[in-house]
Amino acid sequence: MHFQLIIRNGEIIDGTGCARFAADVGVNGERIAAIGDLSAASADSTIDAAGKIVAPGFIDSHTHDDAFVLTHPDVTPKVVQGVTTVIAGNCGISLAPLSADAVPQPLDLLGPPERFAYDTFAAYLDALDRAPAAVNVAALVGHSTLRVRHMNDLAREATAHERARMAADVEEALQAGAFGVSSGTFYPPAAAASTQELIDVCAPLKRHPGVFATHLRDETKDIVASMEEAFAIGRAVGANLVLSHHKVAGKENHGRSAETLALIDAQSAQQPLCLDCHPYPATSTMLRADRIRQSSRVMLAWSTKRPELAGKDFADILPLYDGSIEAAIDDLKPAGAIYFVMDENDVRRIFRHEKTMVGSDGLPNDTAPHPRLWGTFPRVLGHYSRELKLFPLETAVRKMTGLTAEQFGIDGRGHVVEGHYADLVVFDADEVIDRATFDQPKLAPLGIEHVIVNGVPVLARGEPTGARPGRALRRIPR
Ligand SMILES: [Zn+2]
Repeated sequence: MHFQLIIRNGEIIDGTGCARFAADVGVNGERIAAIGDLSAASADSTIDAAGKIVAPGFIDSHTHDDAFVLTHPDVTPKVVQGVTTVIAGNCGISLAPLSADAVPQPLDLLGPPERFAYDTFAAYLDALDRAPAAVNVAALVGHSTLRVRHMNDLAREATAHERARMAADVEEALQAGAFGVSSGTFYPPAAAASTQELIDVCAPLKRHPGVFATHLRDETKDIVASMEEAFAIGRAVGANLVLSHHKVAGKENHGRSAETLALIDAQSAQQPLCLDCHPYPATSTMLRADRIRQSSRVMLAWSTKRPELAGKDFADILPLYDGSIEAAIDDLKPAGAIYFVMDENDVRRIFRHEKTMVGSDGLPNDTAPHPRLWGTFPRVLGHYSRELKLFPLETAVRKMTGLTAEQFGIDGRGHVVEGHYADLVVFDADEVIDRATFDQPKLAPLGIEHVIVNGVPVLARGEPTGARPGRALRRIPR
């Protein structure tokens, strides 16, 4: 037997959550061709994985990489973590379909307005086909993007006519290959949308497969009502519900993850749902007064007008504005910040839940980004699993591979199994750890050694190869 590539002598953690086992993995073309004792087989190239783990490539369930995969196709912050597929278009914000000269916050976290240049979802996926990235991209269509496209006044609910036009865009996106719809009523462009508006806009999900992924309207005192709104929308359109970056924010809500997870467990009997989370007690998004007031510490991630202040503590910036949060926001905006707003015990409790996937929520265009952009996956493997023993390594891997592929309907990926696409990562379980910190957020992790996407190495011995074998994935194949 001959293979293009054999990964020899590794321990396989296959993404199902089952215990690891020793085996070689043979790859031909873009697929896993054989798993077992391949000591008698030859290969064009070999990776010696003795003492290492061989796992499915990691799937980042929550990203804002829509434009980044086009502007930075090496996608280095993700490749160095072992990520082989990113799910873009989260929080109601997708790059397509929208052509615009200017976009309101937070759409700008995807990049400058000129990046919004795709009138259809199909055109965006075609652009990815023409200029592939190092990783695969599965994209959602965002409700806020559709509002910006079809409404002249974002401060009100959409009319019946506007809802119909947005639903037509959702239909086009799903037929083109979108993996579902996302929403973000937490944010100004969609805050005026009613529950019924979302049900109407998401109606094509009744006819096509796809998730409804939502950044809840409120993650503080009204979190339960916000979750119930999300349950209602998911049920009304029959979609798998993804509760994005699940958290309970603000000191007075710390500890309430016990309540929200119990609600999730109870609701699981009624409808399909899941959640994602990142391994940090701080979040990051556009600069806004409510989040500043809820946080124990705030750091400025970027500011177009005052770029020199990026990375600084807001407490050190505030005196420049005589202590006025509003005056600071006025001068700094558009801007983004990092907010220490959760309790680490809630983060860990949420992570232990069997339906919690790993999602970085990294913001790739920020000047001083939250360290989740470079550190999320190795931190779950090295810190949460190995150091804190929150769950076995097999569970950690499942939360970033098989579980995510199953929940989003990503066919042929997420498991180490014969016939699957050869999206693979080889890592050192004893060494793997994040190095990115809030003060030095752009440090690559340790212990991720080889990353293979569609049979092609994108990271070899810890170094990016520059190859760009990623695909624009399509939920409904063309
Ligand atoms: Zn969000």
